[in-house]
Amino acid sequence: MAVKCIGILTSGGDAPGMNAAIRAVTRSAIYNGMKVKGIYRGYKGLLLDEIEEFKTQNVSNIIQRGGTILKTARCAEFKTPEGRKEAYERLKEHGIEALVAIGGDGTLTGARIFAQEYDYPIVGLPGTIDNDLYGTDVTIGYDTALNTIMECVDKIRDTATSHDRLFFIEVMGRDAGFLALNGAIASGAEAAIIPEISLEKDQLAEMIETGFRKSKNSSIVLVAESEVTGGAMGVAERVKKEYPQFDVRVSILGHLQRGGSPTAQDRILATRMGIAAIDALLEDQRNVMIGIQNDQLVYVPFSKAIKNDKPINRDLLDTLRISSI
Ligand code: ADP
Repeated sequence: MAVKCIGILTSGGDAPGMNAAIRAVTRSAIYNGMKVKGIYRGYKGLLLDEIEEFKTQNVSNIIQRGGTILKTARCAEFKTPEGRKEAYERLKEHGIEALVAIGGDGTLTGARIFAQEYDYPIVGLPGTIDNDLYGTDVTIGYDTALNTIMECVDKIRDTATSHDRLFFIEVMGRDAGFLALNGAIASGAEAAIIPEISLEKDQLAEMIETGFRKSKNSSIVLVAESEVTGGAMGVAERVKKEYPQFDVRVSILGHLQRGGSPTAQDRILATRMGIAAIDALLEDQRNVMIGIQNDQLVYVPFSKAIKNDKPINRDLLDTLRISSI
């Protein structure tokens, strides 16, 4: 049966490009004769009935804006069967027959559980700066965050060089090292400490032993936030104890990595994925995330996107190592 009315929400951590995705989903749905209901504050707003019909004008002038006009929230109730029942009731009341959910791992996990429980069609879009969803080469927001990191590191390098300092810069990524590794390559950092490698070897000791600093008067190391790496603070503490000859500083980039106007890449990615989400519903696809692989849009079952750890490309470790000698 053709879907006549869809709901759209953003949930979990916000990411630049979410607005471009909301715009594309809304316009493609209307183009295909569907009604669109914007659901504010993710699953929380769904439970609280914060729902409004969206016309094409509702999404005018937002493609360039960071954050999400639909707002986002965490919602503990949605993790309970009672909460999800409430959500189902709200959707029925509003005549919403399918959902497009934009968010990260948690958002898609919730979507998957709900879709199974109520046999309800949901299409997910990967919206997270962390790039940690399996089945897609990149996620919406990742490129913008990477560019922000690059700009910040460029600035820190100016001061690091003036003082002959060793800087540890912590970047986001949850349990993934994509931002740290590619951020390090893009900004010409000396090294990256990432969780994917932390369990295999002592990256800090190796860096120091190979004399990564010999020919340089300053050094910058990007550290992925994670319990496994210990974060920039954890690594710096270790250096102070084990290698006291270094003048160490720490900078934690924090939430500024989430903000800003999305890059052209993220706007285009979000627009293509948003339109693909409606195509998926028209093709009767359900419980899939839209991914992009080798520039082709693909449908990735929720079960695959969420459950699998996305591997980093190990060639990039050599790229960084060789380019930073
Ligand atoms: P992200 O989508 O950025 O990974 P979260 O992990 O905070 O962000 O998840 C966003 C929301 O998704 C949660 O607040 C919750 O409402 C929902 N969610 C996450 N995990 C589950 C789960 N296991 N069951 C049901 N809902 C979930």
